[in-house]
Amino acid sequence: ITRLQGRTAVITGAASGIGRATARRLAAEGARVVCVDLDAENGAKAAAEVNGLFIRADVTDEEAVRAMYEEAVDTYGRLDIAFNNAGISPPDDDSILTTGLEAWRRVQEVNLTSVYLCCKYAIPHMRRQGRGSIINTASFVAVMGAATSQISYSASKGGVLAMSRELGVQFAREGIRVNALCPGPVNTPLLQELFAKDPERAARRLVHVPMGRFAEAEEIAAAVAFLAGDDASFITASTFLVDGGISGA
Ligand code: NAD
Repeated sequence: ITRLQGRTAVITGAASGIGRATARRLAAEGARVVCVDLDAENGAKAAAEVNGLFIRADVTDEEAVRAMYEEAVDTYGRLDIAFNNAGISPPDDDSILTTGLEAWRRVQEVNLTSVYLCCKYAIPHMRRQGRGSIINTASFVAVMGAATSQISYSASKGGVLAMSRELGVQFAREGIRVNALCPGPVNTPLLQELFAKDPERAARRLVHVPMGRFAEAEEIAAAVAFLAGDDASFITASTFLVDGGISGA
């Protein structure tokens, strides 16, 4: 399939997990891929895998975010797809009674403020072209309680969902689609780390997934590829759940 031929995609959090699988998938569908991550070693490997460009950037740094889209456009001439996906897992014991203000702020900064910055600096490029697809990674916990008291994490993802919806509505007539991707639990280093600290949590979570398993990153990447391209031409401002049925149960 080459449904993304000629398109340029910038993917944040591309060194690992969902971002990395998506880099491979979008490249396989013909896109030129810019991999962005803090992790220089794995980020460079991810970019090499897809014959793309690696940019080391912290997505909470406004100037770095502005510059990474500039560099992408300078290199490939355009910006069609922004997959704003970098994020961090909840702090240990992310309950309202235990999460400190600093940990709370850090999660909002990395998971939510970063998406604000990425949208802010991606949209002007897309506007100039009269076309673009933005996919922001939220989570199923943006639409339902997760039974694991992830207060700061869930709040950050709820913010991503609401912001994506607002932007989708605001820019619908300019050809820019903005969707919130809401994965269920996905088998990535982020989840594995969380479960290594608290193995019972994995079992508790699994019980709630009707499919009885976690997603593989490639299954999320397939949804991103769909939202990125013209097959999704009438989909914007959506809450796009790829969750094995967890939110429907
Ligand atoms: P991951 O830890 O495998 O990958 C996240 C990547 O983001 C890492 O490479 C990390 O270096 C990068 N990153 C973190 N902070 C950054 C920063 N400030 N600047 C640049 N890069 C930064 O995680 P993943 O599971 O692939 O998660 C990707 C996204 O999906 C996250 O937003 C996460 O919250 C979300 N998500 C994950 C799951 C899951 O179960 N794994 C479920 C729902 C949503």
